[in-house]
Amino acid sequence: MRVSGSQNMTKSNKTASYQAFIDLIGAQNVIQDDDPAQKPFLEEWRGLYHGRTPLVLLPQSTEQVAAIVRLAQETSTPLVTQGGNTGLVGGQIPDEDNRQIVLSLKKMNRIRTFDPVSASLTAEAGVILQHVQDYALKHNLFFPLSMASEGSCTLGGNLATNAGGINVLAYGNMRDLTLGLECVTASGEIISALSPLRKDNAGYDWKQLLIGSEGTLGIITAATVKLFPRPKGQATAFIALDSPAKALALFTLMRRRAGFSLTSFEIMPRFGLDLILTHIKGARDPFKEPAPWYVLCDITSLEDQDRAQTQLQSLIQEGWDNALINNAVFSQSEEQRQALWLLRERLSEAQKLEGGSIKHDISVPLNTIPDFLHKADQLARALVPGCRPLPFGHMGDGNIHFNVSQPVSMAKEDFLQFWEPMTESIHALVTELQGSIAAEHGIGRMKRSALALAKNDAEMALMRRIKAAFDPNGIFNPHKIV
Ligand SMILES: Cc1cc2nc3c(=O)[nH]c(=O)nc-3n(C[C@H](O)[C@H](O)[C@H](O)COP(=O)(O)OP(=O)(O)OC[C@H]3O[C@@H](n4cnc5c(N)ncnc54)[C@H](O)[C@@H]3O)c2cc1C
Repeated sequence: MRVSGSQNMTKSNKTASYQAFIDLIGAQNVIQDDDPAQKPFLEEWRGLYHGRTPLVLLPQSTEQVAAIVRLAQETSTPLVTQGGNTGLVGGQIPDEDNRQIVLSLKKMNRIRTFDPVSASLTAEAGVILQHVQDYALKHNLFFPLSMASEGSCTLGGNLATNAGGINVLAYGNMRDLTLGLECVTASGEIISALSPLRKDNAGYDWKQLLIGSEGTLGIITAATVKLFPRPKGQATAFIALDSPAKALALFTLMRRRAGFSLTSFEIMPRFGLDLILTHIKGARDPFKEPAPWYVLCDITSLEDQDRAQTQLQSLIQEGWDNALINNAVFSQSEEQRQALWLLRERLSEAQKLEGGSIKHDISVPLNTIPDFLHKADQLARALVPGCRPLPFGHMGDGNIHFNVSQPVSMAKEDFLQFWEPMTESIHALVTELQGSIAAEHGIGRMKRSALALAKNDAEMALMRRIKAAFDPNGIFNPHKIV
């Protein structure tokens, strides 16, 4: 069956081609468009994007994915690849025209091999991130990618978004954690480079283009990832301080002293803690007195818990001696550590429960963070008086989630009308500071026009040429990124 273009497809040959997709992988692996079970695949976490699809396909092997892609090419059927559907820029959601098929890799969830000598494992794209972490721990090793969505997001989605999270400071982002990749190309070929090699300069490294490509260049079906020695000690502090400038000075001090033992350094304002205390059950303010800003940080030791604890305490003492810190609490047990991390990990959820918010996932050079936070706050408040900025995130990576909550007295829909003008002014500030408008969540649907503004013409043209080389007929995740 070959059709010249989707516009020329009649209803009956469309139906025939959908049936051909079902025949390829069996009806038990397909959710059809009259089935309410499609719903979780068509809405994303923030409720900003909703789509429609004739079919959700859930293949069980790379060969099935390749067969689906070949049929999609023959019938000019667009495919939207999906993992755990935790993406925050709408990249995994099909559009509304009911033509794009959702290809969910959820059923490809096997860990294929484990290599203790190379300290690596090879897993299929649909494996949940937390399962990779747990598997590594069971073998007395450590997989450092970690984020609040780790119970739902998948390795394939982590690769496709080049995910970051809370341990980037010491271990890098998903790109840095990847050794090998298996993918299906737009012509339906399987390319397998699932090797644990740490050195391989044989030609262009196509894997690097697939990582972070958000489903637009190919379908990632498996990967070989690096594992690390399992930390023996982890100490956490929650620190109250006066300003982002002091937080930055504290980070510089801690980084110089502790190097890669400093594995996390997160910042949040008082408003964030207020939201957590209001909306999240079991959350407790660690301090009697409020402070304008807080830092949450981890010191990790490969040797033992005492060493982590002692090192963290002496760093905090030094911060105190340098008048950077107002107050600090340390975790004395794993339970207390989790209680402190809850104050950071549940921020997105607490903000969602507070009403509408306009979000920015940006990064700026570290030394400009205080300037960025001050100016962005002013810009937001000037545009929507009464709005409540909640900038938080991975300060040590220069990555701030500059999320702005609606004014208390404004309707959510009215506030969200300001999305574009607010985002434009925040992104203009980021560009002025030589930062990035998409630090870790990607471009997807949400930031497509912003990307064109942030990049110059030559860069955009190069990206379009890369897209055309990988996916000449545009069947992979159309209208995302470029
Ligand atoms: C509460 C919360 C906290 C989060 N915290 C962080 C954080 O700290 N750091 C961070 O980086 N992100 C964070 N995220 C965003 C999100 O979890 C990550 O982007 C994650 O990597 C997405 O994985 P997923 O499996 O859910 O992918 P999906 O949401 O299903 O897909 C994301 C994108 O990848 C593409 N894709 C998915 N699988 C494949 C595949 N196998 N082959 C090709 N393309 C594919 C999709 O088409 C889409 O464009 C958070 C999200 C939530 C809800």
